[in-house]
Amino acid sequence: MNEEGRKKSQWFDYMTGGRSWRAFWHVICERIIIIQSIAQTLISDGTKMESTNPTPDPKPEPQHKPKPAPKPKRRVVNAFFPTVGVAILLATLFTAWTPTSLFASNLQEQLRLILTPQAGPNTVITTAQPQLRIGIVAGHNGNDSGAVCLDKDGQVDLKEADVNLAIAELVQKSLVGQGFQVDLLNEFDTRLNGYRAVALISIHNDSCEYINDEATGFKVASSLETRDVNRAQRLTACLVDRYQRATNLTFHAGSITGDMREYHAFSEIDPNTITAIIETGFLNLDREILTQETERVAGGVTQGILCFINNESVQPTPSPTLAP
Ligand SMILES: [Zn+2]
Repeated sequence: MNEEGRKKSQWFDYMTGGRSWRAFWHVICERIIIIQSIAQTLISDGTKMESTNPTPDPKPEPQHKPKPAPKPKRRVVNAFFPTVGVAILLATLFTAWTPTSLFASNLQEQLRLILTPQAGPNTVITTAQPQLRIGIVAGHNGNDSGAVCLDKDGQVDLKEADVNLAIAELVQKSLVGQGFQVDLLNEFDTRLNGYRAVALISIHNDSCEYINDEATGFKVASSLETRDVNRAQRLTACLVDRYQRATNLTFHAGSITGDMREYHAFSEIDPNTITAIIETGFLNLDREILTQETERVAGGVTQGILCFINNESVQPTPSPTLAP
């Protein structure tokens, strides 16, 4: 054996441990099969889950095969894919379930917050249903007496302001009884500046002088300065219809004066407040119903206001030609 042959022999002995090539391959194959069996056992649960892709029989290959090296290599690859598959499956499950469950938790929390009142029950009750505000002006009150009636001796025996106040107080009482917040206002009440309400009605009465037999009945005029003319006209129609039904008094559509159309309060209140002025009768010829049947008169005004607020059906305001 030359030098080269001696070195090759030493390297072979070192690598094989003094075994023959056949014995060396046998040991290598044994080690590979042991490692592969351990790996197969570790991933066996994962491979069982893949029913559509059954794994190869994990039984070790016969050890007497001359070239078993390619087999373990293929089997390691076969074991690798189920492992990766299980890893992907687990990763998918975690990424799919964890955010979903977190989202579901957030959703449930949001629903709980939406469905649960944030304030105490007492607070909800007091703020959920605010009362509708209605303004009633008792004409001339706090300023002057308005029209006056004189007796045979020339003494004042009836003032318009008193009649207006009596009617206004009854209207207020009736509306308060139905759950509304009603402000009883003076003629030049400071609260009228920018006054906001669902409706403002000013109550007045006509002259106590005898004019003629036609000087009986009532008048209604709405504001021309409102931002909602249709609703103002509806308030007028409601007051006319309901007041006429309640009192059987005549509606004087043609005798509405410019003073009524340009009533001072119309320009003082908030333009969103729907407002009207009603002259409930003449103090001369209608004195009896105004002073003796005040509840009936006030009832007609109240029904007119409720007609407007409750959107009740109402006949169009009758034209002057229909009035007698
Ligand atoms: Zn008046």
